[in-house]
Amino acid sequence: MRLYSTKNPHKFVSLKEAVFKGLPEDNGLYMPENIPQLSPLFINNLKNHSFQSIAFEVAKTIIGDSIPEKDLKNIVEAAIDFPAPVVKLDEVTHVLELFHGPSLAFKDFGARFMAQLMSYFNQEDKKELVILVATSGDTGGAVAAGFYKTLGIKVVILYPSGKVSMLQEKQLTTLGENITALEINGTFDDCQALVKKAFLDETLTAKIQLSSANSINISRLIPQSFYYFEAYKQIESADKPVVFSVPSGNFGNLTAGLFAKKMGLPIHEFIAATNANDVVPQYLTTGEYKPIPSVRTLSNAMDVGNPSNFARMLDIYGSTWNNMTEEIKGYAFDDETTKKAVKEIFEKYNYIIDPHGAVGYLALKEYQKTTDALGIVLETAHPTKFLDDMGSILEQEIPIPERLAVLSEKEKVAVPMSIDFENFKEWLLENY
Ligand SMILES: *Cc1c(COP(=O)(O)O)cnc(C)c1O
Repeated sequence: MRLYSTKNPHKFVSLKEAVFKGLPEDNGLYMPENIPQLSPLFINNLKNHSFQSIAFEVAKTIIGDSIPEKDLKNIVEAAIDFPAPVVKLDEVTHVLELFHGPSLAFKDFGARFMAQLMSYFNQEDKKELVILVATSGDTGGAVAAGFYKTLGIKVVILYPSGKVSMLQEKQLTTLGENITALEINGTFDDCQALVKKAFLDETLTAKIQLSSANSINISRLIPQSFYYFEAYKQIESADKPVVFSVPSGNFGNLTAGLFAKKMGLPIHEFIAATNANDVVPQYLTTGEYKPIPSVRTLSNAMDVGNPSNFARMLDIYGSTWNNMTEEIKGYAFDDETTKKAVKEIFEKYNYIIDPHGAVGYLALKEYQKTTDALGIVLETAHPTKFLDDMGSILEQEIPIPERLAVLSEKEKVAVPMSIDFENFKEWLLENY
């Protein structure tokens, strides 16, 4: 497999380079040169395959000869070791639960696959790799769990003191082993600034092999296409067209769905579901792309005013608005409507959905007013990740899964640190 930058389709890099670099120098995004089709025989026979075997087939088709089959199989099996079940709410409404991984959100798929790929490619170099991640909460948890005990890789997570939830903090600070949490006496932006400076510091980069676990890394998108196949396998589609409703922020999940469709999965259309940060639904309506400063909402993992994967979506559709609107429909909802949907789904189906999934549900219902389709809503996080909001919306306490309850008992271990770069640098040089 080779990859090009969305800003220069004529220059190619290897998968290894794209994974370690994350971003091309021209500030575009890496895209696979080809997204080949799977055989119709395989697609018609999904039901006879396990999730891991589907994931391997899809990965092999995209990645091709960049990784020998035997190694790729090990990578896939290590990364995709939890299920993605579909829950049927009614004949035309399904929920794809993507929260069965260690950090209880779909980002586990991407983070675990990226960790496996980096570890694999890093073996050739035999040099310890140090991953720096700044987090406002969620990404750090998925990355920490994804890289936990990964050979040859150490992870340093910078998080803003007092600005992440108790459970998020526990996810970052209780693993130990190769994961170290730095509790920064500042904001998320301060954390990000420290990381950026570290990559530009020549003393540091000469002594330590630094890398980032950026959310736009292509290795995070590839595994996100696996579960579209896995979901399709689990439904009885009858004669209706199948659509996926994707609660979106940076639009990585939706872009991965477009990969799955290109590979031959018969998806009729995609529904781009957003909160008040509605640049993409606006674009789909007006043809004008107008980034906005993000606004804070209930579904805060989708509070993005300038979605990073939009460049990839444009690339797929040859920058043509018409083509994109033929396959993607967009809808946006405010927090009040979202809260009502959470309640309605609980009362109607006895199903507890989180605010992100609820936005997806609302969009599907809007879409189904004009099109007779069977819909699958991506449930991107477990509702207990938003315990306080869920409790107040449903006016009752919601049950906490065992693996989360255990976390609150564990002891936090973090290194307190100021926002002074020299301090941070010294600490890195002493410890790696
Ligand atoms: C990251 C995230 C999203 C947004 O996903 P994108 O791929 O950035 O569109 C949605 N829901 C949850 C819970 C998330 O953590």
